[in-house]
Amino acid sequence: MMAESHEAAFYDRHWEHTRTATDPHIVAKGDRLLALLPEGVRTLADIGCGDGYLTRRLAERHDVIAVDRSAVALDRLRETASIRAIQASADAIPLPDRAVDLVFSSQMLEHLPADVLHGAAREMQRLATAHLLVTVPHRETLRRRYARCSTCKLQFHIDGHLHAFDAAALDQLFPAFERIHTELTGPLEPPTYAPLEWTRQHLCHHWWMWDDLRLVCPRCGETSLRKPRRGPLRRATERGLDHLADLWSRRAGRAPQPYWIVTLYRRKAAT
Ligand SMILES: [Zn+2]
Repeated sequence: MMAESHEAAFYDRHWEHTRTATDPHIVAKGDRLLALLPEGVRTLADIGCGDGYLTRRLAERHDVIAVDRSAVALDRLRETASIRAIQASADAIPLPDRAVDLVFSSQMLEHLPADVLHGAAREMQRLATAHLLVTVPHRETLRRRYARCSTCKLQFHIDGHLHAFDAAALDQLFPAFERIHTELTGPLEPPTYAPLEWTRQHLCHHWWMWDDLRLVCPRCGETSLRKPRRGPLRRATERGLDHLADLWSRRAGRAPQPYWIVTLYRRKAAT
């Protein structure tokens, strides 16, 4: 449904009006990631670096190769001397095998169509001499953040996420490596269920949009997407749904969970 979102132009548009560094959760994650870097790591590659807040944090102490499809994102990194920027797709990175000690990837894998995802995982394993440090949303209910285009009716995740991961799903992507550290971090995400979100969207017209954020439809390019106007009946229905969801979560013993999982991998000993 969303293969279009992998186009470089999508990421350029995204980074033209998105900056992550002001988000305190991202700043806190940067602190954790720096603390997790193993002893002896000197060089690293940041695959899908985006606008590079975390890339710059890593570059305070390491030589960093920043890889992204978006020229807009990379332009923001070129001023930092210890960063080398490469514009490339994550599944075809023009670097030699074992080019760096550690390959880092934050909030990237969940964006990739399946074929690119597996190509990217192969590239990450090929480039890393010793370690992978990977973070993605943890068990995200993708539908929660769906918007709907008022022009072509495409339903799409506002951040372009195509996959939800847990630790086991990440392990399968990196068979040459073993996971040696796992933690959850980030803003707390209340429990939800895809059918509940579907009902919220179709019955209550609750699509994930903000009045102050410019969304672009990844299929037709519509730029004037706005929150749908909703009458009192739809709002009352949604309050009822919220109440039901709350009861359901309590009965199922589901508590809010941090939004991201952070995993550190070490290359398996050669057999
Ligand atoms: Zn559209």
